[in-house]
Amino acid sequence: MRGRFAPSPTGYIHLGNVWSAFLAWLQVRQAGGTLVLRIEDIDEQRSKPIFTQALMEDLHWLGLDWDEGPDIGGPYGPYIQQERYDRYAAALDTLKTAGLLYPCYCSRARLQAVGAPHAGEHTVYDGHCYGLSEAQRKQMTKKPSWRVHVPERTISFTDGVYGPFHEDLTRCCGDFVVRRADDMYAYQLAVSVDDGAMAITHVLRGEDLLSSTAQQIWLMETLGYTPPVYTHVPMLVDEVGNRLSKRQHGITIRSLRDRGLTAEDILSYLAYAGGLVPERRRYSRDELVRRCDFHKLRTEPIVVNML
Ligand code: GLU
Ligand code: ZN
Repeated sequence: MRGRFAPSPTGYIHLGNVWSAFLAWLQVRQAGGTLVLRIEDIDEQRSKPIFTQALMEDLHWLGLDWDEGPDIGGPYGPYIQQERYDRYAAALDTLKTAGLLYPCYCSRARLQAVGAPHAGEHTVYDGHCYGLSEAQRKQMTKKPSWRVHVPERTISFTDGVYGPFHEDLTRCCGDFVVRRADDMYAYQLAVSVDDGAMAITHVLRGEDLLSSTAQQIWLMETLGYTPPVYTHVPMLVDEVGNRLSKRQHGITIRSLRDRGLTAEDILSYLAYAGGLVPERRRYSRDELVRRCDFHKLRTEPIVVNML
């Protein structure tokens, strides 16, 4: 088994990040597999090297160790997305050769107006620019983004927590952006190339990414990779139901540590709040690996009130 934790270094890690990192770590350690740390810093504006440094320190402090990563290397490196642009460019070439890549000149206003809000977090593109002729494209003055054209196909997968899904690509995501007009590679492209090229067999991440799974599976298959098995885990929320990850000044691990909490306190609390252990007490990391039962994981959002 090869699992991964793929944080974006856009701030100090908070309890929500630790929740998914802890479970990814737990899944791999329980199975005796290999855990990869990958730094997802394609967003060059928001990502900062000091946050990469800080998140590795915080994960070390928590005792969530990894077997391959930017600091220790490994056979599937580099483990930092900004050092993997050649791979993303090659994937775009593959899509282009297959006739699946096309420029989209739509304005943000148009996309919002026509996009069906069906898929929840993201809207579904109506394919407007797919039909443009070469002559029409030549007349455009705006710098385009690049979309991949999805076929009418149903992607079936079984999530480790949420069970079976049958997603119709044209309805769940539509033609999606793989390179933005500002030249940034899109998350969907980078994550699919990396999970594929790093031979990841098990992805565990927050439930907010469940709606991206079908398109990632399709993209990986199209690029010749074997898709992993997915496990999405419920999000942590505060007492009024707001996602911890959405809070600008969410509870960072550093602030909890400054308040005198130990790594075991934090991980034991999360394991208890998620239903993985029956008793609220302090467990050592080894005990957590032995005792946490994934089958008991809650599926509804998890209210965190330790703070
Ligand atoms: N980099 C993403 C994040 O920090 C996670 C991507 C993934 O797990 O697929 O939200
Ligand atoms: Zn368009």
